[in-house]
Amino acid sequence: MQVLILGAGQLARMMALAGAPLNIKIIAYDVQTESLVHPVTREVFSHDLEYGIANVDVITAELEHIAPDILNICQASGKFYPGEEAILAGGNRCKEKVLLDKLGVNNARYQIIANRDDFDVAVANMSLPMVLKSAFGGYDGKGQWRLKTPAYADIIWQDIVKFLAASHKTERQYIIAEEFVKFHREVSLIGARSQNGSIAIYPLTENIHVDGVLNVSVSASEDTALQAQAEAMFEVIAVALNYIGVLAIEFFDVSGTLMVNEIAPRVHNSGHWTQQGAEICQFENHLRAVCSLPLGSTKRIRPTAMINIIGEATVPISVMSIAHVHWYDKEPRLGRKIGHINLCAFNDKQLGESLKVLALHLTKDEFPALMVAAENLS
Ligand code: ATP
Ligand code: MG
Repeated sequence: MQVLILGAGQLARMMALAGAPLNIKIIAYDVQTESLVHPVTREVFSHDLEYGIANVDVITAELEHIAPDILNICQASGKFYPGEEAILAGGNRCKEKVLLDKLGVNNARYQIIANRDDFDVAVANMSLPMVLKSAFGGYDGKGQWRLKTPAYADIIWQDIVKFLAASHKTERQYIIAEEFVKFHREVSLIGARSQNGSIAIYPLTENIHVDGVLNVSVSASEDTALQAQAEAMFEVIAVALNYIGVLAIEFFDVSGTLMVNEIAPRVHNSGHWTQQGAEICQFENHLRAVCSLPLGSTKRIRPTAMINIIGEATVPISVMSIAHVHWYDKEPRLGRKIGHINLCAFNDKQLGESLKVLALHLTKDEFPALMVAAENLS
């Protein structure tokens, strides 16, 4: 089986590694260089994208920021999963919000902003602080602004104008003004839906972000009522999109009531723990779903924490004696995710203790959320 992945980053790399035992061969389309590459060795293939599309069995994506013309030709091939509609819903916050509202899925109040007048109306009508997000092209907290008081409205608007001017020209960019949610924590749900409609969902993961970037995800014991709430929303969204593949949903947990933050039509950073913590990892399950193979068990086999390695963070080799280290073979750069660590334990309490031990090997500056995650478990 040959699969073409749109995007050639770490998610494509980890799918290729997970697919190898199933004889699933992956080629990846690097959107930056516009070439087909091997997602692990980075070997550049001489064929172009059209050839790749015509000659693989299945096409999928590791990112949602895909040029409309590429999306169109992939969709027209009839072998693209989860497909254009799902990619657009995850890649454009306007479409995402409209979908969530249509399905009656709880999400933060918002207004769509196209110009300064809309912005002024939003500032006047919505409670502050508010979060302003670009409709597309944002990730890891980029393309986002926080407005705390009206006094900063002018400064933030000037910044937004600059961002809009630099934005993609083929599609109209909008800004979403969203109420600031006073959540007590963030959680996410990863699940897979197959071509015959069966669904397999992993346990909820608790996520700790620092400056809008995911730092630590912990999969430990969770409230069953919360899991049921999240699964019900997952099912509504996945069925409405006739979704095939792995879908991730990020939630705000507001005192036991979940509110969707955003959806990602792909494998997700908060699901990396499944490589060591679940029976079958998210990467393999995504491939199983898009290749019409039976879904694998999403059971958590042990509490696991995933810690992102970001920017120029260093990891002493001593960490390898207590945890699993996954490198992405990427050049270190400020804010860039270059690897992650999976730390496993027999129970929640021991996972908390192990996180404290791990913190002795790593610097607090480079891994700021480790002790927070440890305290949450104790
Ligand atoms: P990702 O890398 O997950 O794609 P992103 O840049 O697309 O991130 P969001 O997930 O929307 O953006 O926001 C990043 C983080 O900012 C959230 O995980 C959350 O911590 C915070 N945040 C976003 N929206 C809100 C909100 N309405 N209220 C409070 N905090 C928010
Ligand atoms: Mg997010």
